Amino acid sequence: MINLHGITEDEIKEELLQLGEKSFRAQQILKWVYEKKVIEWEAMTDLNKEQRKKFASSFQLISLKLVRVQDSKDGETTKFLWELFDGKLVESVLIYSGDRRTVCVSSQVGCPARCAFCASGKEGLIRNLTSAEIVEQVYLIDHFLHEKGQRVSHVVFMGMGEPFENYDMVVKSIRLLIDPQRLNLSQRRITVSTVGVVEGIDRFTEEDLKVNLVLSLHAPNQRIRQKIIPYARKYSLEEILAAMLSFSKKTHRDLTYEYTLIAGINDAPEQAEELVHLLNDHPCTVNLIPYNPVVGLRLSRPEGERIEAFKSILEEGGIKATWRYTKGKDIAAACGQLALQHSLKTARKNSTELVIISKN
Ligand code: SF4
Repeated sequence: MINLHGITEDEIKEELLQLGEKSFRAQQILKWVYEKKVIEWEAMTDLNKEQRKKFASSFQLISLKLVRVQDSKDGETTKFLWELFDGKLVESVLIYSGDRRTVCVSSQVGCPARCAFCASGKEGLIRNLTSAEIVEQVYLIDHFLHEKGQRVSHVVFMGMGEPFENYDMVVKSIRLLIDPQRLNLSQRRITVSTVGVVEGIDRFTEEDLKVNLVLSLHAPNQRIRQKIIPYARKYSLEEILAAMLSFSKKTHRDLTYEYTLIAGINDAPEQAEELVHLLNDHPCTVNLIPYNPVVGLRLSRPEGERIEAFKSILEEGGIKATWRYTKGKDIAAACGQLALQHSLKTARKNSTELVIISKN
């Protein structure tokens, strides 16, 4: 069965023609699903009984099963844990900030980057998500907000996975999210975060999209970066930064570099100075993110004073820097943490799984 959220209007039309139906039904169905938020064929009253039956056996409306919803104590984030058709788990985070309703989506199950500070990376890559599975995360959270008279305003590809290792499905999902007949999100309110897949950055530069691009930098040099992100061995920092600069020049967009500060690893004053030197010709902002502790990882977050000192060195060196407060600490809001906790609980009941997890 084809999932309606993952295919374009033209693709829906092709399917309809094969079913012996008129192509205009595509708009009719999209209107029910996206405008009227109807997710049951039975409720689509301008389709006859036979059509509803035919469409129900050809098009899937929802494939994600909600396993858990968890609000943070500060009320600023809600985390959703989804089960996919094959039993795999992914998560999305809804972040409330003023009028903004940002959804942080996952693009893969697990992640090939294996960042030292991240729960998703612990298991490595399991599989790519389809465009439908990506769009559905946003659609279902928009549904959740709709009941409160709100809607999703921003989407960030910063959940589980490396988006550019699933390039085609990620770009397709962006095109579906901005479709005026669907969620109609503004391109400028969508952000893709990469760990530095050079081919992906280059391809993205050539897309006719006005989407933001963020690099997860996390280190001022290749040596430390490889320690933090094993995947970073694939590309030199030089190549990655050159690709980011080309993106900025071609799209006239400023760059954002994310830098997770981990005590004793990448938070020293001399590393801040090295970063100033590295980024001196980049029109950029560095987002400093104090490490958010993950169960089972022996890393720690630097003290506030140390973070302030790091930030000051960047600013004195002419680099814009922000220190991001990590929202939703009590609900494990860093990517992959909720899924990992759930896996660990399940694993305790299942010795085979426990062996697999403890190997990592
Ligand atoms: S931080 Fe992002 S890129 Fe790194 S392992 Fe986690 S999901 Fe992958």
